[in-house]
Amino acid sequence: MIEVQGVTFSYPGTTVPALENISLIIKPGEFLAITGPNGSGKSTLARLLNGLLRPGEGRVLVDGLDTGDEASLVDIRRRVGMVFQDPDNQLVAATVEDDVAFGLENLGLPPAEIRQRVAAALEVVELANLRTRPPHRLSGGQKQRLALAGVLAMEPRYLVLDEATAMLDPVAREEILQKVLELRREKGLAVILITHLMEEAALAERVLVLKAGQILLAGPPAEVMQQEEKLAAAGLKVPVTVALGKGLRQAGLKLPANLVTVEEMA
Ligand code: ADP
Repeated sequence: MIEVQGVTFSYPGTTVPALENISLIIKPGEFLAITGPNGSGKSTLARLLNGLLRPGEGRVLVDGLDTGDEASLVDIRRRVGMVFQDPDNQLVAATVEDDVAFGLENLGLPPAEIRQRVAAALEVVELANLRTRPPHRLSGGQKQRLALAGVLAMEPRYLVLDEATAMLDPVAREEILQKVLELRREKGLAVILITHLMEEAALAERVLVLKAGQILLAGPPAEVMQQEEKLAAAGLKVPVTVALGKGLRQAGLKLPANLVTVEEMA
């Protein structure tokens, strides 16, 4: 479990905290979405979860390990994998397979295990056939899948996707998310999806909405999406499928069979 306990964080040289008194528990295997308008603190919160940033006040505990404790950071980063928006910053090696192996070599794993984990991770993201290709020759979606493979090979318990699909087209975005959710079902991986897209957030079990560094709303999507006024005040819009479903029901009409609304997902 990840415990965020009364965390306040300010960037150096700023007067307004990026996050203020945030408390939150993320359970193993959970699918949590963190959403909110630009600048609301989503990325800052993501970076606090694996110790990339440390709280000014409060604590973050990952399976009981304190991110403020330098000696725990290596262990914490193995448990909490992060994929960012721009894969170019995460790709380091000359070939696809070496890139996935990079983090594993740093862990000092035996070569046979490294080979096995690299092969398995590339299989999952469907890049096995491109394993000798230089990463810079991949498409945007392929690069993002490679960055994901590098993180998955570390076998994290929690996976944070920080706008990890934001630069992709809707099809590639959907593909990556489906892969990740498959892993969650198979391996009990917790998924923490940071997204400014309400449609995407609505897919999670639980949604946390941030506004100006504070938690505006938290709960199952069906509940959160009912709060249209609060969402609108934060500059957020209820997904069109949710609004449409509600409108049709209010008009006494039946929902089309293929329209999945948040109420039904919850
Ligand atoms: P979001 O991910 O929701 O867009 P961020 O966590 O990136 O929000 O930012 C939260 C707040 O912290 C914003 O006011 C932003 O301007 C500020 N901020 C983010 N990164 C830095 C930084 N490196 N230095 C100073 N201020 C920052």
